[in-house]
Formats: sequence, structure tokens, C-alpha cells
Amino acid sequence: MMKRRLTVQKLKILEYLRSVKTHPTAEIIYGAVKKQVPTITLATVYRNLNLLANKGEILRLEMGNEFHFDADIGRHQHCVCRKCGKIHDVFQKEISKYAMEKINYDGFNPTNVQVIFYGYCKNKNM
Ligand SMILES: [Zn+2]
Repeated sequence: MMKRRLTVQKLKILEYLRSVKTHPTAEIIYGAVKKQVPTITLATVYRNLNLLANKGEILRLEMGNEFHFDADIGRHQHCVCRKCGKIHDVFQKEISKYAMEKINYDGFNPTNVQVIFYGYCKNKNM
């Protein structure tokens, strides 16, 4: 029973995350999923997000001192605007490919790379 409930919660979290492109934080995901699963707690959301991220089913992006989550695990990069705070998806495969091919550190064997560009987006009046 406990296990089944957790599975439903995990599915709802995934479902929500897959429906957005906004790279939400755990708090935002919690707010959205709570509408469908009123009994869910923020701790459960955190636990499931970390579980999913550790299994590679979602991306966990560390930005400043908060984590953002992304259901798109295909190789892509992110641009973060320092002014409006928006996280934009960038699809330039060659950037990640280059980084993966060129890294050379003490026998380190990379399995993935996250590229985050920080700067300013074109919406100057935000
Ligand atoms: Zn993304």
C-alpha cells in the first residue's frame, strides 16, 4: 500500500515535469502536484526528485543555491539569464559532444556533461 502510493506520487511528479519546459524547482513541482495529490508532502517531492535524478531519469540542475529539474534527459545545454532568471534550453549537440571528447583528467571516465551558460537574454525590459 505504502509502496503503491509512492509510485503514484512519483508518476504524478514525472507527469508534471514532462508537461513543462520551465525547469521548475522542487517547491514549484510540489505546488503543482499537490493539486492532484493533496496528501503529498514537500519532503516526498524532494525524495522522489532526487531518486529520479540519481537514476538518470531526470536532470537536476544546480543553479546558484537552488536545484531545478528537467524531464528532458536528451543531451542539451542551458542558458540562464542573470536578470530574469529564466532557464532556456539550447540544442547544440556539438558543444556537449566536444566537452565529452576533450575532457582528459586522470583517467576520469565521464558518462554525461551539463553545460550551463550564464548571461543575459534579449528581453532587456524585464
Ligand atoms: Zn532543459
